[in-house]
Amino acid sequence: MAKLFFKYGTVFSAKSLNLIATAHNYETQGKKVLLMIPFMDTRSNGNISTRAGFELKAEMIDTDTNVVDVFIEHLNKKEKIDCVLVDEAQMLSSKHIDQLRDIVVRFNTPVICYGLRVSYTLELFEASKRLFELSDKLEEIKTICWYCASKATHNLKLVEGKPEYKGNPIDIGGLEKYLPVCYNCYVNPPIEKELKGV
Ligand SMILES: [Zn+2]
Repeated sequence: MAKLFFKYGTVFSAKSLNLIATAHNYETQGKKVLLMIPFMDTRSNGNISTRAGFELKAEMIDTDTNVVDVFIEHLNKKEKIDCVLVDEAQMLSSKHIDQLRDIVVRFNTPVICYGLRVSYTLELFEASKRLFELSDKLEEIKTICWYCASKATHNLKLVEGKPEYKGNPIDIGGLEKYLPVCYNCYVNPPIEKELKGV
């Protein structure tokens, strides 16, 4: 039976790179993947890109998109889909996650979602919460804290070099900066290092 996966991590944990490696593995075996990304991720424009410089075409998922319909549209075009990959899954709604779960069950097709676990305000994203509830398999994509040697578990938001802990959990503006940090460094970030650009 196919499974629903949630591979989660902090910012800079190479989630998109992991997604692209998975897509590459499928493609080299002659298998087809369907890529999906939330429309509100303004960095994308229909492509999944990574800091390593790879790009892949993707279906854009808007608030009122039914992802089951998107999947069926591809099947109707006689496309074979061996796997669905979802980038930035935390930006979807819980309804979208229910639909992805439905794809796995109805079509016996694996769906692998990549995304953040918690926001910089220390809240589970709605979609991430639903993924924790519905996934068959959870996997943490690990990276280390920006400031120390601990594992990063949280995302620190810096605006003009100062930590910000309150606001809209989904904030994709441009000027702020997010760093992967451990909880201790989240609460008490050694900002000096950041300001000096070390
Ligand atoms: Zn730390």
